[in-house]
Amino acid sequence: MGGLSEGDDVLARWSDGLLYLGNVKRVDGVKQCCLVRFEDNSEFWVLRKDIHSFSAGIEGVCCVCDAPPLKEPLVNCHKCRHGFHPQCHVPTIELEADCSSWICRQCVFAVATKRGGAMKRGRFARLMQIMKLRLPYQLSELDWDPQHLTNQQQCYCYCAGPGEWNLKMLQCGGCGQWFHEACMQCLTKPLLYGDRFYQFECSVCTKGPETIERLPMSWVDLAHLVLYHLSLCCKRKYFDFDHEILSFANENWESLLLGTLSDTPRQDRCKNLLDALNSHKDRFVSGKEIKKKKCLFGLQVRAPPPLTSDLSPFIMDPPLGISPKRSPLSALCQKGAVDSGPRKSKRHVKEVQPSPQGAGANPVDLMSFCRVGGTNRFGLKRTEDELNGLVENITLQMGNKKMFMLVILEWYGGPLGKPVAVHIIILRWGGGGWVG
Ligand SMILES: [Zn+2]
Ligand SMILES: [Zn+2]
Ligand SMILES: [Zn+2]
Ligand SMILES: [Zn+2]
Repeated sequence: MGGLSEGDDVLARWSDGLLYLGNVKRVDGVKQCCLVRFEDNSEFWVLRKDIHSFSAGIEGVCCVCDAPPLKEPLVNCHKCRHGFHPQCHVPTIELEADCSSWICRQCVFAVATKRGGAMKRGRFARLMQIMKLRLPYQLSELDWDPQHLTNQQQCYCYCAGPGEWNLKMLQCGGCGQWFHEACMQCLTKPLLYGDRFYQFECSVCTKGPETIERLPMSWVDLAHLVLYHLSLCCKRKYFDFDHEILSFANENWESLLLGTLSDTPRQDRCKNLLDALNSHKDRFVSGKEIKKKKCLFGLQVRAPPPLTSDLSPFIMDPPLGISPKRSPLSALCQKGAVDSGPRKSKRHVKEVQPSPQGAGANPVDLMSFCRVGGTNRFGLKRTEDELNGLVENITLQMGNKKMFMLVILEWYGGPLGKPVAVHIIILRWGGGGWVG
């Protein structure tokens, strides 16, 4: 498949936009993906588009279109040695340029993308800025979910890699595409999980450097953001106010870029945050309400803090996103509280493994995923009214298809906390509409 075979050493792009070293274990030519074993021995199915091979390919043909040179000779990348027709590369290779030291888009991104934000200075930063003026895919051809958070092709950012909108990505206010923290050159501080308090415009839309502006945040937004970030990092629901919530806010105070709140003296932050947590029962649950310690707080719904511009009050975080995929090498790169990466989800291998029956849903798997989401909800011992008509929106990944599951829990008078009817509707986005 596309010049890849078992045993090849490759670079695979992860949902954080970074490339990781791996070895091809299996090749699925039909679904255009490979099972890749990474350096930490984890194995994941990766789409062909996200795999870059080290081998120089077939001598004398273009690595994009497999055709021999036309009038002009192929231009070879100085780093990876792959040959290109000038017009097959995005952007088109300028023939006046010094072709002996020319570097291809993939190699520029491999060097310039960084956790916390891409390089801003030096030759690779400048080359990256030029590459970013054009996307290597047709944005208008992507099939988005109704909330414009995920697309069927799993194609995001300048790098065309996979992505998770709630895990350190920003949406461009111009074109609506989502971009990786690692591929952005405009950030002054690393992103927190779920932090969308930025007005961002991509290089394609500005036709130049990206623009970014911090949006104002309230104490409620800050409390929500800290709880969301901590819940993804630690995979827990409740956090101690003094030792975790307040101390995280204090330790990262400068990086949080809080605008008008940033001048708040240390001794006043405690009261403001605590007031926010106690006065917004729609967003936060305190330990007091669940007969735990009153200094514990958690989120009612594990969703990033909403923006005032959002149409719906909460964009539901799919329950499967509870454990963001740890990148294969993130353990080696963890540093500081902001950067501490979440643990790897063991379920992930199963999620993306193409099912033997093809992209069709496996009912047993769907049911078990559903129960995972349900248990969390029921564990809260919701009242009858709260449970009535409760709707969960779950995104499942099957092969390269995203499945959407709408779970409607209904209350028919069973014992408190135990709904007796669970309705599950499985939908798939296809052909411009929802397929049941
Ligand atoms: Zn070509
Ligand atoms: Zn190259
Ligand atoms: Zn990217
Ligand atoms: Zn844009």
